[in-house]
Amino acid sequence: MDLSYILNELGEDRAAYFNAVAPPIIQSSNFACKTVEEMRYVLQHYTETHFYSRGNNPTVNMLEKKMAALEGTEQAIAFGSGIAAIAAAVLSQVKAGDHVVCVRKPYAWTSKLMRDFLPRFGVEVSMVDGTRAENYAQATKENTVLYYLESPNSFTFEVQDIEAVAALAQKRNICTVIDNSFASPLFQNPAAMGIDLVVHSATKYIGGHSDALGGVVCGSREKINRIFSSEYMTLGAVLPPHDAWLLLRGLRTLPLRMERVAQTTRQIVAFLQQRPEVEEIIWPFLPSHPQHQLIKKQMRNNTGQFSLRLRADSLEEVERFCDSLQHFLMAASWGGYESLIYPAAAYHRKDGHKPSMPFNLIRFYIGLEDAEYLIKDLEQAFSKMKG
Ligand SMILES: *Cc1c(COP(=O)(O)O)cnc(C)c1O
Repeated sequence: MDLSYILNELGEDRAAYFNAVAPPIIQSSNFACKTVEEMRYVLQHYTETHFYSRGNNPTVNMLEKKMAALEGTEQAIAFGSGIAAIAAAVLSQVKAGDHVVCVRKPYAWTSKLMRDFLPRFGVEVSMVDGTRAENYAQATKENTVLYYLESPNSFTFEVQDIEAVAALAQKRNICTVIDNSFASPLFQNPAAMGIDLVVHSATKYIGGHSDALGGVVCGSREKINRIFSSEYMTLGAVLPPHDAWLLLRGLRTLPLRMERVAQTTRQIVAFLQQRPEVEEIIWPFLPSHPQHQLIKKQMRNNTGQFSLRLRADSLEEVERFCDSLQHFLMAASWGGYESLIYPAAAYHRKDGHKPSMPFNLIRFYIGLEDAEYLIKDLEQAFSKMKG
């Protein structure tokens, strides 16, 4: 399917709404039936009919159709946030007494789900270093039902060999779930590498404008319908139609934004490599990175996130650098138009609390600004770092 067709036409039916070019926001909780017979039919086919918006909503359905096509899966289901999608995908696969193998250091709330939440319901989780696929096999027990991946993972961007982990899972009849938010559906498609359920925080690149939350799970018709009938309907973390509309609007420009982010990020990284204030850049797209070949094999292009360690002697120097930046905003998330930093220093408190991340680690996200504009900002912040 052509990418342009998916983004501009698929799932839309303009003749049904006055040939409006932009899709309508069907802001309705309820959908009426004309006859008892019709209602009887709708109740029996509730996964594919419009009856109630905690269920199917036409605006949300458009987003789901496009996302399934982008990830090359039969179907997709949207949620009110990325973590709601992750939780639903994971919960759909486990019951008390089961065991899960999860990549170490995933997104923070995924970590919470794995470490605190699942054990409360009798599900055991092993966290493994995902840089070696064999670690998944080694951690596997008789009751292992799920391998969870996030490639690359958050903050330190360790890459998992998606094809190898999927193959290990298939041999053992184990389900695989991957968080694909980092790469966007344009630059990495794990279903084609054998992964069962592909999850996105649509809040990030898909929305792209820092004004909507959302999440999507893509997979087979059978698996998605099971999630629909169970986790989706009972936990009820639905995507509001207005947010679905914002995410649909984001999709229209996704290729342009990804291309721009990719190019500017390469320019910024090249600049940072020359700076004496930078001790290390953590980015698998650098040829010197030990997993460079693997990421080149799995991803079609780089995205906008990387981390670096400042050559700083104190927390104060890191703080002076971060606080001096005028155009990089200090915030969570990423994938919008605005460049961001997320300093690990924020976890280092004066009360002696010792976080696992080093004080000089900063995660960057490069947005849609001009490279020169961002470089000037970095230059002036570096000049203030030493006080
Ligand atoms: C942000 C993020 C999430 C969570 O998504 P929300 O939409 O904020 O719930 C999950 N995984 C990754 C990798 C993320 O960056």
